[in-house]
Amino acid sequence: MDKALCSLSLEEARKGLLRRDFTAFELVESLLRRIRETEPALNACLAVFEDESLKQARAMDESGPDPSKALWAVPVTLKDVYNLQGAPATAGSRMLKDYLPSYEATVVKRLREAGAILIAKTNLDEFAMGSSTEFSAYGPTRNPRNLAVVPGGSSGGAAAGVAAGQAPGAFGTDTGGSIRQPAALCGCVGLKPSYGRVSRYGIIAYGSSLDQAGPLARTVSDCGRLLSAVAGPDGLDSTCSRRPPEDYVNLKEKAPGSLTLALPRELWEASFHPAVKETLDGALELLKAAGVGLKTVSMPALRYSVAVYYILAAAEASTNLARYDGARYGYRAEKYGDLSDMYKKSRTGGLGREVRRRILLGTFVLSSGYYDAYYKKAAQARRLIRDEYLKTLEEADFILAPVSSIPAWPFGSFTEDPLTQYQLDIMTLPLNLAGGPGLSLPCGEGSDGLPVGVQLMGEPFKERSLLEAGLALERMFPKPPDITRSPLTLPRG
Ligand code: GLN
Repeated sequence: MDKALCSLSLEEARKGLLRRDFTAFELVESLLRRIRETEPALNACLAVFEDESLKQARAMDESGPDPSKALWAVPVTLKDVYNLQGAPATAGSRMLKDYLPSYEATVVKRLREAGAILIAKTNLDEFAMGSSTEFSAYGPTRNPRNLAVVPGGSSGGAAAGVAAGQAPGAFGTDTGGSIRQPAALCGCVGLKPSYGRVSRYGIIAYGSSLDQAGPLARTVSDCGRLLSAVAGPDGLDSTCSRRPPEDYVNLKEKAPGSLTLALPRELWEASFHPAVKETLDGALELLKAAGVGLKTVSMPALRYSVAVYYILAAAEASTNLARYDGARYGYRAEKYGDLSDMYKKSRTGGLGREVRRRILLGTFVLSSGYYDAYYKKAAQARRLIRDEYLKTLEEADFILAPVSSIPAWPFGSFTEDPLTQYQLDIMTLPLNLAGGPGLSLPCGEGSDGLPVGVQLMGEPFKERSLLEAGLALERMFPKPPDITRSPLTLPRG
C-alpha cells in the first residue's frame, strides 16, 4: 500500500479504514515507520507500542470495520501523564521513571472503547510544567518545522508528532496553555475543553483547578471527533461535569458573516515579534474580508493573569506533588540518613529544577502568614478574570486572541530565565483561569517560516459551537505546509 498513509488526516484515515481502502495493519505500519524515521530528530515519543499496536490492528482487520465506533482502528498518541496499564507513566520525570500504573485513565478506557489504537506516549515538560518541552527529564523534543527551535509545551511531543505525521491525533493536557501553545508553534490544531468536560481520572495531576485533557490533530473536525470519544460525565472524577456532551462530530460550519469576535486590547496590544505581528495582521485582514465582525474590547483584569496563575498553579502543584516522597511512589535516593533525609534526597534527586522551584513557591504562598496575601488574593483576582471573560461573551460570540507573542524559539533561550518564560504564557493562561473552552488553530506562517496560531475562546460547555466557528476560520486561513513526509534529518555536527 501507498507509503503516504501517515499523511492522512484522522477523518480521512477513518473513512479509508471503513471502506477497506487499506487495512488497520497497513496504517499502523506506516505510522510506525514514520515514527522510526523521525524519532532520531524529534524525540517526541517516550514509548512506542509497536508489537501491541500491530497485534491489535491485525485483530481488528480480522473482525472487520465497525462504523459504530468513533475511532475504529485510528492510531492515537497520549502525553505521558495518562495512566495506561502495562506501560510506565513517567510525566517526563525521573521521579516516575519506573512507575507502572495499576489502573487506566478514563480517557484511555474511552479511547479503547471507541476503537482507537494507542501507538505511543509522548514527551512533555516534567509534570507538565513548562512551555518548551525542554524541562523533560528525557531530553527535549524538537520542532519538526525547524529542528533548531522548541516545539512549545508542555505537550510538545504530542504537537511535534501530529505535525510530523507520527499520528493523526494525540491527547495532551492544558493547565495554562499546554495544548494550544505547542499546537500553534508546530502548526496544528489543539482544543482545550471546558474545565470539567473531560474526566481527569487517571491523569497525573499538576494544578487540579486548571488541568484539562484535550486533543491535538491536523484539522478542526479531527479534534471534534477525538473529543466526542472522551467527553462526558465520569463517576470516578467528582470535578467532571454531569452535563451530557454535545455532538462534536456532525458539525455545521458557521457563516463568517454571522460571527462577532471580541479582541481583548490587553492581548492584541502586547509587544509581538515582527514575524508574528505580520502574520496576525494578515489573519485579521482575512477575517474582515470574509465579513467576520471584529470588536476591540477591554479586559483589564487580564493583566493579573500571569501572577494569579503562577501563584495558584504552584500552590496546587505543591500539594499534588507532595505524594512523591520516595516512600510511596517512584524514585528513592540510594543513600540517606534518617527519614527526613530520605525525603529530601529522594525529592532532590527525582525532581528537576523547575518542578522544585514551583513546589517551593507553592509551599510559600500557602504557608500561614502568606496565605491571605498571596493565595487568597490570587483566588479573588481569578474570579475577576472569570467574570470579565463571561461578560465579554455576552457582547460577542467568541473571544479571539493570539496564542504566543513570539514564534518557536531556539533551545536554551529561556531555561535560565523562568520569569520571562512565565510572561510568555500571558495569552493562554486567562482561559484556564476562566474555565472556558479554547481552540487554537494555525493562521499562517511568518517570514521566518514558522507557524503562527490564533485561539478562539467560548462559553463554558459550548464546544460544539466553538468547533463550528473553528471550521469557518480554518477555511479562511492558509493551511500550514504538509511536512508529514519531509525527511527530518539533523544537520551534522
Ligand atoms: N506553561 C504553563 C506552565 O508552565 C502551562 C503548562 C500547562 O498548561 N501544563 O505552567
